[in-house]
Formats: sequence, C-alpha cells, structure tokens
Amino acid sequence: MHACPRSVRIGSAVQRLTHGGWVPSFCLPPSADPVGAYIHLPFCKRKCLYCDFPVIALGRAVDVAAPVPAIEAYVGSLEREIAATPAQNPHPLQSVYFGGGTPSLTPPPLVERLLHALERAYGIAPGAEVSFEADPGTFDAGRLRSLQALGVNRLSVGVQAFQDDLLHRCGRSHSVAEVHAAIEAIHAAGVPAWSLDLMSGLPGLDPGAWAASLEAAVAAAPTHVSVYDLQVEAGTPFAAMYRPGQEPLPSDDAAAAMFGQASECLRGAGYEHYEISNYALPGSRSRHNTMYWSGSSFYGFGMGAASYLQGRRFSRPKSLPAYLRWLEAYREGPRESPGAELPPESRRDVLLDAIMLRSRLRDGVWLTVLEDIAGDKRHEPALLSALEPHVAAGLAWLERDGEGAATHFGLTDPEGFLLSNDVVSDIFLALDES
Ligand code: SF4
Repeated sequence: MHACPRSVRIGSAVQRLTHGGWVPSFCLPPSADPVGAYIHLPFCKRKCLYCDFPVIALGRAVDVAAPVPAIEAYVGSLEREIAATPAQNPHPLQSVYFGGGTPSLTPPPLVERLLHALERAYGIAPGAEVSFEADPGTFDAGRLRSLQALGVNRLSVGVQAFQDDLLHRCGRSHSVAEVHAAIEAIHAAGVPAWSLDLMSGLPGLDPGAWAASLEAAVAAAPTHVSVYDLQVEAGTPFAAMYRPGQEPLPSDDAAAAMFGQASECLRGAGYEHYEISNYALPGSRSRHNTMYWSGSSFYGFGMGAASYLQGRRFSRPKSLPAYLRWLEAYREGPRESPGAELPPESRRDVLLDAIMLRSRLRDGVWLTVLEDIAGDKRHEPALLSALEPHVAAGLAWLERDGEGAATHFGLTDPEGFLLSNDVVSDIFLALDES
C-alpha cells in the first residue's frame, strides 16, 4: 500500500506526472474529460471458437502484405466518424488503443491515416501511449518497425497458449512456431513495451501445460502479461460444446488453482499483479486500461466500440451494415457526442462502478475518491461494515491513517482477487440496504 502520489490538475482533468508520462492515479477522482481513444479494427483471419467480439473473418489465406479493400473501406468510415465527433478536452490524447479483431492485419499506411485523423481532431500528446493489438502470424519485424515509426509504442500480443493442441482446439489461426517467430520479431524490432496475453481455463488445459505456458511467457521477457480466464459466452461455438466447470473445462477448484499458479509464477519473476487479470514489470502498467479501471472518460470509434463521454456509456452497433447505417445517421445529426440522447449515469451508478472497477486493482479503492463521486460520505459506514468480515477472512485489506481513520481498501492476492465478485456483491447489498 502506498501514499497518495503527487498530482497536478490540468483543466478539469486530474492527472499524475511521472518521468514516463501521464498515468491515471487511483487516489484521485476519474477524469471527466476524455484522455484516451479506442479504435476498433474488427478484421481477423478466422473467428476463434470462444470469441464473441464484433469480428469480420477474412479467411486464413489472407495476404497480410497485400491491400485488402474491405479494411481500406472500413478505415474510411473510421476517419468519417472521428471527423464528426467533437473534441471534449482542450488537451491532447494521452492514450490511443487499436483493439480488435486483429489490428495487425491493418497495413501501416492505413494506421497512419487513422493516427492523422485523431491528431487533427483531438491532438496526440508527446509521450502518449499508443497501443496496438497483434496476433502471431500477422506481422514481422519490418511491419513492427513501420508501426513504431508512426508512433506505436506498445503491443498487446494474443498468444493464449504455448501448446499447438490447445490453440487448435480454440480455433486460433496461429501455431506455437508462429508465436516464437512473433516474439523474435518483437525483440528484433526493439518494441519498448509489450504485453503477452495468455488464457487459462481452456478445454484440456492441465496444471503441467499451464506451468509450461507461464514459464514460456516469462522466458519471452514481455514487459506486461495479461491472464484471462476463459468465459464460455452464449452464442459462441464453445457454448454448444462445453459447460463451465465440467470436463474438458477445468473445475472451479482447478481454475482457482491456475489463477494462484499464475500469480505465484509471475510475481516470482518480478511482475507486479496490479489488476486481477494483469501483471506488469515496474513502470509498465497499461495506461489505457488503467484509464478504464479508474472510470475516466474516453472516445470510442468503430463497429461495436464503446465510448464514455459526458457521463454516458454508448456502444456502437456490432455488425458492419448496422454500424455504417448508424454512422451515416450520426453524421447527419447535430454535432453532439455519440449517445448524447441517453440519460447520463447517476452519481450512485458512478459510485458503484468505481467500487467494482477499482477493487480489481492492487492499489485499491480510496474513500476520498468515493466521497468526491458521491458528493458526501453517507455510503461509508455501510461500506466499511460490509468489508469488515472479508478483512477478517483474509479476502480484503483496509488501510487507516495515523489517527485510525479508514483511507483505502482492496482485495488480497490471490484469495480476495479470486472471490472479488462475492466481496463486491456484499458491499453493493449493504449500500442498497443503507
Ligand atoms: S483473434 Fe481475438 S478478436 Fe479475433 S476471433 Fe480470435 S479472439 Fe476474437
């Protein structure tokens, strides 16, 4: 646990300055002015069997080096959406995130057009984090150098497993050999920051294979590791094939053991377990995701993308035809934020969001932040009494100042992180009844 870091107010955006640039700070309220932008690039070679993201499959044989008319047309739509969306912060973007889909299928000249569109509309701050999701088998060192020349300074690489049989079972389009080639390319290109993403809970995954994947991940020397537990989403092929907790998926106990195994292995290798699913070397936390978890506002662009502007969460349509129809109607309408017709979130909703999102973080939840959001401290007695049994059971911690007043709380690692839903539900219940 740490003391509140030194902070600076820029306009109404509350930010923290470090040598590495801007990072959201968890003892300060969320920024109401958007400080980041998410761009959804939905194209993949094929759709993985567990995936419920808005994705357009191009086919495994797609030539990564050749222009793809569908991607070019979509980038044109994104440019129009960006140009139509008014700026809501006089200060430039501190974070840009290209997610998907498989953004690394998008040729660098098209990425350059999108960065220019963002620069024209909002500005991009010097030192901004510019992240790019990339899948093995879709890039080489040359492509990474081209992306870096445009300003991309962080990659998020969807490895998921180091076993060909597991990758095949999930319908991934890459092999383990392509994973190793991707890691070599990242090091050859000198990418300064990159995340290696793994999935636990895959069908047939056993503790031995999981340990091997964790060791291989550490050996690849990424600056960040994300570990997501498989969720069997309705409507996916996996939902028709598997039942959560039943073989060949791991039991709840086995899944919990894998979570603990990951935490022990990665922390032992020097990674900080800073969020339930995320680990980083010191100074290498994802600034963009940290912005989400802090509840700050952000722009979103593209098919299925979410934005959070002026207290309104808005998701664009998830199919391409519906997104294009929405975009044309939006461009013809008044120059307002997308979703401006929706009611803004109430203070109560923002308070509950802050408790839910920030309790996922090792830094925990600062009571001063909750007070700032709620406008008073009336929620505090119920919250602290709901937390008390979880502190006693070793699932949560509570810090106090020198005078004994509670300052911030969080969940223990791994016990509390594993049961975060239970702890947060108890807090919500207590707040409802207070
Ligand atoms: S690569 Fe990612 S976005 Fe594309 S289908 Fe697979 S899980 Fe979904």
